[in-house]
Amino acid sequence: MLNQNSQWYKLQYPECFVNEEQRMIQKMIADFVDKEIMPVRHLIDDDTTHEEIVRPILKKLHIDLGWQKLTIPKDFGGMGPSSVVTNALKNEQISRGDYGISLALSVTAWGLAPALRAYRSSSPTAKSWGKSVLDKFAPMFLENKLRQACLNMSEAQSACDIENHLNEGRLVRTKSELKGNEWVINGSKQWASNSGIADLNCVICNMDSKSGKEGFSLIYVPEPWPGVSHGKFEVKCGVNADRNTSTYFDDVRVPKEWGLKGPEAWDLFITTVVSAFPGNAANCVGMLQGAFDELLAYTGERVVGGKPVRQHLSTAAFLGEMASVISVSRAAYLQLAYQYDHGEIYGSRTTDSMIAQARSVLCFAARRASELILRGMEFMGSQGYVREGQYEKYYRDSALAKLVLGGVQLGLFSVCRQFYDLDFSSFGTGKL
Ligand SMILES: Cc1cc2nc3c(=O)[nH]c(=O)nc-3n(C[C@H](O)[C@H](O)[C@H](O)COP(=O)(O)OP(=O)(O)OC[C@H]3O[C@@H](n4cnc5c(N)ncnc54)[C@H](O)[C@@H]3O)c2cc1C
Repeated sequence: MLNQNSQWYKLQYPECFVNEEQRMIQKMIADFVDKEIMPVRHLIDDDTTHEEIVRPILKKLHIDLGWQKLTIPKDFGGMGPSSVVTNALKNEQISRGDYGISLALSVTAWGLAPALRAYRSSSPTAKSWGKSVLDKFAPMFLENKLRQACLNMSEAQSACDIENHLNEGRLVRTKSELKGNEWVINGSKQWASNSGIADLNCVICNMDSKSGKEGFSLIYVPEPWPGVSHGKFEVKCGVNADRNTSTYFDDVRVPKEWGLKGPEAWDLFITTVVSAFPGNAANCVGMLQGAFDELLAYTGERVVGGKPVRQHLSTAAFLGEMASVISVSRAAYLQLAYQYDHGEIYGSRTTDSMIAQARSVLCFAARRASELILRGMEFMGSQGYVREGQYEKYYRDSALAKLVLGGVQLGLFSVCRQFYDLDFSSFGTGKL
């Protein structure tokens, strides 16, 4: 239960970062999570068809709470876009219940983001592309029907090489060609969240990968669509509310106005990738908070060595450490989200400095969340290892936060770029 009147709450979510409207949305989501997700969170990963628990929850979030309309700008009949701070607050609350639900929800906005950003840009070419895409596809996200989108970038050979901004699109193997008034796409993708169930894909392609950003292209492909097919759903360690599969594009043809090519497309892509960092750091805080709450409650009741577990000094020191990491990570993601929302003061999201700032927050939160949740299991005993204990899911889910978006390794390399010229591209000296 999120008590917005407590002093602790006010200290954790200070007014300098979180305004009244954002607090209202945060409370609405927190109450939803307590009512709809917490009671079933230990069952979510076993809902293999998604019919029993996952889709009903997503429908309520998308339709009943209106989140789907927040992904569409007001100019197109929606209620969005929402701010980075609002999104991050929402992610923290949902991941407190289930990281997979949070991913499935936020990736819909992520898939639409390149078109939304293009529509808001000052470039006439990008703006006109954004408008064409939104004119065509925004209406379906305004229907009272669950709709999902997907940002389809990762490929089997290496996803990091695509997300690595130094590679400038030179390792994107999915090929796009302009033939008359159509784009023709050939290739395959792997891993994308919402793949196989999405109504709309933003597909990352290159017309000639050797040319890097010159041939880079972003193309929207709805589904079902001729030439698009999928493999089986991946069976993962956790986060099963998020669907992932391979997507194959065999001579897929879509109208020319659904695609954008060249450096502008590249800039939109990289901005979209980095824009997910504060939200994913918030997901880590949510998982840590969910695990902490369970641990605090259980160790308060379970008596060993003649007193409740949390009255033993080793447990107290650990709970204190966990609370410290939650506080620091929360402050860091809120500051970062606020900086993203105020580009006029803090600058572009894609400079070395901003990427280093964002990656340092995400690497810290992702590493510490996963490490602390695993250590916390020691204090839960066997109860921490069974579904009904409500704790083990955080252990399985938090591992993912270190891997997505290029992962912690790529993240730490990017942090170093603020301080020295570290070359981690695939094309640096002595590489190609
Ligand atoms: C549940 C889930 C959801 C996902 N959602 C999406 C999505 O919505 N859209 C999408 O397109 N993809 C998605 N992905 C893919 C995800 O972004 C990639 O898995 C991730 O970026 C890591 O890529 P990889 O697994 O191919 O690792 P690889 O690219 O094979 O990297 C292997 C290792 O090498 C390290 N490494 C990376 N670059 C370098 C370098 N330059 N030098 C040295 N070491 C390096 C990596 O950090 C990693 O440790 C998702 C994956 C999962 C599991």
